[in-house]
Amino acid sequence: MTMQDTDRALVQAATAVAKLRCRSENHTVAAAARTTDGRVFTSVNVYHFTGGPCAEVAVIGAAATQGAGELETIVAVGDRGRGVIPPCGRCRQVLLDYFPSIRVIVGPADALRVVPIVELLPETYVWADQQLDAAVPAPRAGAED
Ligand SMILES: [Zn+2]
Repeated sequence: MTMQDTDRALVQAATAVAKLRCRSENHTVAAAARTTDGRVFTSVNVYHFTGGPCAEVAVIGAAATQGAGELETIVAVGDRGRGVIPPCGRCRQVLLDYFPSIRVIVGPADALRVVPIVELLPETYVWADQQLDAAVPAPRAGAED
């Protein structure tokens, strides 16, 4: 998908936050996300050796804090002028599970594009499918082989 003006604005928002707020090793990536009704939220990652959240996960929390609905598009931008960076594997899974139709901005600065999250996670594990009790067959009575 080609970039729209709103997508370019989202990259600019994340870039501005990365430049302004990512000035230590605790915060190295900024993310910006837009809702289906056009609200924009930003956040930074919270680096920690125990597994602090990426900026994409932090912005999901920031949006939820403000009562945002469905996130439509997301982008992450690295510090030190690294530009747009793609979501890590964990974030791809989180984004897919939370917002199955979210679009993700990826690619080099001169060729940014928007891709559906499902394209970034082919043959995916579907977490929701594992939550359905009915989908799990009951064990056979007395089966202990
Ligand atoms: Zn991540």
